[in-house]
Amino acid sequence: MDEFDLIQRFFAMQPLRRPDVSLGIGDDAAVLRVPDGQELVASVDSLVAGVHFIETMDAEAVGHRALAVNLSDLAAMGAEPAWALLALSLPAADEGWLAGFARGFFALAGRYSVALVGGNTVRGPLSITVTVHGFVPRGMAITRAGARPGDHIYVTGESGAAAAGLRCWQEQGMRDPDDVLLRRFLRPEPRVPAGLALRGIASAAIDVSDGFTADLGHILVASGAGANVSLESLPLAAAAVERFGRETALRMALSSGDDYELCFTVPPQRLALFETRRRTLDCAATHIGEINATRKLRCVRQDGSDWAESAAGYKHF
Ligand code: ADP
Ligand code: MG
Repeated sequence: MDEFDLIQRFFAMQPLRRPDVSLGIGDDAAVLRVPDGQELVASVDSLVAGVHFIETMDAEAVGHRALAVNLSDLAAMGAEPAWALLALSLPAADEGWLAGFARGFFALAGRYSVALVGGNTVRGPLSITVTVHGFVPRGMAITRAGARPGDHIYVTGESGAAAAGLRCWQEQGMRDPDDVLLRRFLRPEPRVPAGLALRGIASAAIDVSDGFTADLGHILVASGAGANVSLESLPLAAAAVERFGRETALRMALSSGDDYELCFTVPPQRLALFETRRRTLDCAATHIGEINATRKLRCVRQDGSDWAESAAGYKHF
């Protein structure tokens, strides 16, 4: 199977057709149409074996994850996903692996009507780079920079589940793909409906990929603000608390990544509108604190003491 057979067999035969794709896979480049009145939102993420996923991980989960982490970035901007490009570096053309990868990738792509419009395939160490494009109505993108003192802080879903899942995999040898925690690590759900519902409501948003304190920290730096967070309110994954205890589950939520939940802020004058739109989020959203003018992040325990551990999050360098 040469490079072109591989592309044809696993990536060019997707069922999804979008009318805004004038020309998809097969030429030197794709030709795409951005709808009138919309802005193009673009993002790219690489998954490197041994860093972002484990070589022995199920290929279908890797395919899901490669797209999910990218869709999560679009969700955090309030963008509607549209197109993806896929750059693959593969040590060998392993048909079983490619079929699994494509299954995971296209299952998620189909759910959000994302068309794969191009890519690149080379031989090399296993690594996957996905670029995604989406749309927002002009001027409506939700950035990290809009949080203001008095805004309420929320987080979607549950915190700490993915980190707990990774730990179950690494330290307990757990492999059941349907385990509640393992599943959250292997197949994170990008919060696309939540991102769309938060347009015109959230003053700032970020997806939690590096750990809650690090990612909320990015909002604070970009917005020139501070925050008070009540740790008691943080929606810790029940299974993580059960297996590792509350303190460890809390540490995992605050300083380990991969949850891909959205952390966002809502100004007081939009709280009523937010309440009416909550249903359309497609997931829970928990109030966990307030933005203030201190330029510091304070995470406060139930007894009033501060969370003292370093808020480093995952850093590559
Ligand atoms: P070029 O050499 O002109 O860059 P390629 O031969 O690399 O083109 O690719 C041929 C076509 O197949 C292009 O349309 C490219 O976008 C697409 N393609 C290559 N690899 C992939 C992939 N892994 N997934 C989807 N499309 C791909
Ligand atoms: Mg070319």
